[in-house]
Amino acid sequence: MKKIKNHSIAILGSGESGIGALRLATKHGIKAFLSDSKTIPVHKQRLIESLGASFEEGTHTIEELVKYDEIIKSPGIPDSATIISELVKAGKTVISEIEFASRFTKAKIIGITGSNGKTTTTLLTTHILKEAGINVASAGNVGNSFSDLLVDQNPDVIVLELSSFQLDGIIDFRPDIAIVLNITPDHLDRYAYDIDLYADAKWRLVRNMSEGDYLIVNGDDQMISDRVSKDSSSYEKVEITTRSKTNNGAYFLEGYLIFDCEKIIQIVPIEDLPLLGRHNQYNQMAAILSAIQLEVPFAEIMKALASFKNAPHRMELIGYIQDIPYINDSKATNVDAVYYALDAMTKPVVWIAGGVNKGNDYSQIKNLVVNKVNTIICLGSDNEHLIDEFKNDVNQLIQVNSAKDAVARAFDLALPGEVVLLSPACASFDLFDNYEQRGDLFREEVLKMKKIKEPVKA
Ligand code: ADP
Repeated sequence: MKKIKNHSIAILGSGESGIGALRLATKHGIKAFLSDSKTIPVHKQRLIESLGASFEEGTHTIEELVKYDEIIKSPGIPDSATIISELVKAGKTVISEIEFASRFTKAKIIGITGSNGKTTTTLLTTHILKEAGINVASAGNVGNSFSDLLVDQNPDVIVLELSSFQLDGIIDFRPDIAIVLNITPDHLDRYAYDIDLYADAKWRLVRNMSEGDYLIVNGDDQMISDRVSKDSSSYEKVEITTRSKTNNGAYFLEGYLIFDCEKIIQIVPIEDLPLLGRHNQYNQMAAILSAIQLEVPFAEIMKALASFKNAPHRMELIGYIQDIPYINDSKATNVDAVYYALDAMTKPVVWIAGGVNKGNDYSQIKNLVVNKVNTIICLGSDNEHLIDEFKNDVNQLIQVNSAKDAVARAFDLALPGEVVLLSPACASFDLFDNYEQRGDLFREEVLKMKKIKEPVKA
């Protein structure tokens, strides 16, 4: 642990991670100052004061910030921000809240990153370990910040969901088990539109791992394989794959997941697993392998899987209206997530897509759209990109600008035997506050429509 006595920190950003870091710092007697370029809500100001810390709002004052030993930066602030370059120029170390929090625990850490599947895998891993009687908690990009968790709890195992932004500020952080699910284009605006820079940020999760640590990687992902092949560290590495067999990890073959690694050989029919779709096979393999690594007996893992329920907005089946399933995959905010959603569809699709385009390249899903999608309902304020890309590939393409209209038109246009899928490939900020609101409104409208079209008979 870094020397803590007489240490002082300045925290940039009063969001979840900033407030968490402040609580953790003050709990350990570290002098802390919080600085936010926006206004800080009054209840947070009161909290900061009650913790004996000071703050500034509406600005970052460099002369004040340089007085502190170390700077903790919110994951929302890019490295390219002027204040960060000024602090670095002044010789200050800028770290992420994850790096800071990691100094205050001896718990075993499972770190999970990837462009997609982090939340699902984090929740599933935590659920399996909890059901097996382990004192476990999850944190990071899902639920509480890592720091906040450590203020209130002292778990034996912590499952951390880690975004590339959180990993950008890692120095000594070292997980005991790391999972790298996939690296596909997302958030490239933060990485100079260079996928290699984004991949490097994800790979920082692994940089301090060594003898005795355990890395689970997607063996089908070229970006990951490239990095694995260049890495000579002495941690143990296993792979998850749906494209080939392996005797060093787990693979998916003809309806089964096969676990074949040093500790175990087991075969599981996918009907016994809680999550559908090829993407979820990766997530399930990764979660199960980490539980195996922590010596959870296989029978207990299987028992725990039976009671798992995923978070909403991820391939969430809302229900059927006149036998047509309506699926809420609002969390699919990039093309790769939509690839797996469409890949999992076994019926022709009415696809509701659109929103804020993050520079999407749709070539990856072109064939799936041609082969599986009959109707596209564009749900965004600017649908030009989607229309240009797919207007000749589907029977019909229409535009709407509310969840209500999206559901109403989907109901009108869906033919018997089809499925309605909200899987936007885009961020939600044009018409909605966030992906949760988009998914919630979609669900609400589907349930209303169901009530109208299928009233419960007395
Ligand atoms: P994250 O936390 O990384 O955003 P989520 O578990 O919340 O991941 O899932 C986000 C979206 O990605 C959902 O649409 C989900 O169906 C899809 N998804 C989940 N796991 C994977 C995976 N392993 N590969 C690709 N897409 C995935």
